[in-house]
Amino acid sequence: MTRSDLLGALGAIVGSAAVVTDAHSLEPHLVDWRREYHGSALAMVCPASTAEVSAVLAACTQAGVCVTPQGGNTGLCAGAIPRDGVLLNLRRMNRIVQVDAEGHAMTVEAGAVLADIQRAARDHGRLFPLSLGAEGSCQIGGNIATNAGGMNVLRYGNTRELVLGLKVVLPDGEVWDGLRSLRKDNRGYDLKQLFIGSEGTLGVITEAVLRLFPQTPQSAVAVVAVPSCAAALELLARLQRRSGNGVSAYELIDRACVDAVARHDAQYRSLLEQATPWYVLLELAGAGPDGALQDLLEQQLGEALEQELVVDAVIAQSLSDAGRLWAMRHLIPEAVRGFASVLRSDIALPAARVADFVEQAQGAVGRMRPTGTVLCFGHLGDGNLHFNVVDADEDRSWVHPLSQALYDLVAEHGGSFSAEHGVGQAKVAELAQYKSAVEMALMRRLKAALDPDNRMNPGKVLAAG
Ligand code: FAD
Ligand code: ZN
Repeated sequence: MTRSDLLGALGAIVGSAAVVTDAHSLEPHLVDWRREYHGSALAMVCPASTAEVSAVLAACTQAGVCVTPQGGNTGLCAGAIPRDGVLLNLRRMNRIVQVDAEGHAMTVEAGAVLADIQRAARDHGRLFPLSLGAEGSCQIGGNIATNAGGMNVLRYGNTRELVLGLKVVLPDGEVWDGLRSLRKDNRGYDLKQLFIGSEGTLGVITEAVLRLFPQTPQSAVAVVAVPSCAAALELLARLQRRSGNGVSAYELIDRACVDAVARHDAQYRSLLEQATPWYVLLELAGAGPDGALQDLLEQQLGEALEQELVVDAVIAQSLSDAGRLWAMRHLIPEAVRGFASVLRSDIALPAARVADFVEQAQGAVGRMRPTGTVLCFGHLGDGNLHFNVVDADEDRSWVHPLSQALYDLVAEHGGSFSAEHGVGQAKVAELAQYKSAVEMALMRRLKAALDPDNRMNPGKVLAAG
């Protein structure tokens, strides 16, 4: 099949307006959020149903053309940036299909935007707890394909824990309908788990059944200054105990991040009177009588202040106060983006190793890039840190050696070089380096079994060939 035959066939399936080939319209879809990876594609195709996705994949199989699925293109490892072939964008498949409030389940199409899903759950008196900085534009299909984490993992788990069923189109166009809301189902292998976190390399997710939760009408939010990472972890353990696991978010932020955000937005300049190296943005959430969580938090932080576990604290007094504190946290990735050269990381460590790791990693930065500034923030409650190093100099030659040194350190502590952003095309070499030979061989066998011609998002996660 020639290129123009394929484009004609795709136009017949999705409608010619949904086959995009002009360079200007394609451009934003061929560069990643950080503007570090640029790709190319024959065309961007925007199907409107599972049947259309299936027909597109069958046509691409016939033409021997590869396919890269794309959601909101907010992924941080450039997994959705195609190298060639067809870019399959799910934006037209954005329907909330059904909300079953009684059954605590919701059926959605893969292109539904996360914030719309949260809103639909709320409108039905329920909570869909997945929450991350990109929620206004990322899609649930992308969240599932990357097993996204975010702010509420501590309490509700990663996306993997929030998915009950999936509908997936396999690379040759066959449809697997696993769209179920069962809480228990042990009929053999749990196939949906294979597609969750597979970053578009095994098939296209087209629909999902999501778990919903009761709403948590009460919440209490604070930013606290702590003397060390170890103190932050001790405070978390204490708050969990005294609130009956009521901590829903526990975000570590270092001083340099607060300073970087304050340069972006002056209102955060005088956030806290006491300057310390570390801060925590924390939230308690639950039901119960009005103000009870607020009282509990005030009392616990008062005690922690007396014992010098906490150096200073600001407790939100209103919803808008709480929103302002959270906005500060959400500004951090944007603030990191503003530097000339950046080392980014997304690492996970066993909780007991976090404080040692940070100290050793800071030492490595001091030795290998003394002019660099550490900007460390992350989901401390999950042992997940974004340990970033920035520099005003455009020269990036220091980034690779230092990131290797940090990943070696992560491995020594039994951690992961990719906690939540995945592998995409940015971390293919690291995957091969740090996963065992047995794990790599198993992954290759699974990939070959589902996608024998390597046409689903080739070169992502696993190196081509
Ligand atoms: P895309 O970027 O479009 O795609 C991501 C991957 O999924 C690609 O490999 C793509 O091929 C694949 N894919 C997309 N849709 C499908 C589908 N329907 N079927 C099969 N494969 C598909 N992540 C976190 O985990 N936690 C955070 O706290 C967090 N914060 C972020 C904050 C900001 C400001 C930004 C920009 C990103 C953040 N992320 C975070 C990254 C996160 O992975 C993405 O935001 C999100 O999960 C990706 O969704 P997307 O729709 O943009 O997917
Ligand atoms: Zn994160």
